[in-house]
Amino acid sequence: MKNIIFIAPPAAGKGTISEILEHRFNLPHISTGDLLRDEIAHMTKLGKEIKDSMARGEFVSDEIITKLLIKRLSNKDCKKGYILDGYPRNINQAKEYERILEELSFDIGTIIYLKISKEEALLRSMSRVICPKCGATYNLSNTELSPVRENICDHCDSSLVTRSDDNKETFINRFDTYMKETYPLIKYYEDNNNLLVVDVEGKSPDAIFEEIKKAIK
Ligand code: AMP
Repeated sequence: MKNIIFIAPPAAGKGTISEILEHRFNLPHISTGDLLRDEIAHMTKLGKEIKDSMARGEFVSDEIITKLLIKRLSNKDCKKGYILDGYPRNINQAKEYERILEELSFDIGTIIYLKISKEEALLRSMSRVICPKCGATYNLSNTELSPVRENICDHCDSSLVTRSDDNKETFINRFDTYMKETYPLIKYYEDNNNLLVVDVEGKSPDAIFEEIKKAIK
């Protein structure tokens, strides 16, 4: 079983790299952000509750996100391994995750930290568009990551949209929250496990994939 967890600042490209790993390693990609955006798109009770705070870049409560994650990890497709993108996002969630792993008899696997400067992450955030139907992510600042047809999803032909949390003010909020809540996880995992640090600044997704593949082989 091969599990991979990503830790990264907002807009570092963890969704894009996760999608590549999903297809090349044939593992399910679990994005906690997508699980939440799904609730909002389907206008569930939870979706209505979290819509505004998520648009402001605030974290959803540990309790809500952990419950959604347990449900998703209990699906049988996760038994062969998975790529987890967006969880844990603070020390409390890391401890909660250890309990979940024990309960499901899963390994922690590889923890990958995607390192990027605040400036490049902001640029990526400002040029990101997503498919509201299938969740595919594109980046208009990079021809390799742009859709073939302008504003149309390559996978399902839906019109692409901007994420409600991809504006400068929200990015700064999200980055500050990342530094306060998520960044301490790097030290936590350095002390407890093998943390793989991948510098993604200025690199193409394929180059990043090759680096990860080599390191985790
Ligand atoms: P992402 O798609 O990973 O950029 O996440 C988008 C947003 O979803 C975040 O800014 C948070 O509001 C929320 N979110 C995703 N994962 C978590 C988590 N593990 N804990 C709390 N909030 C989360």
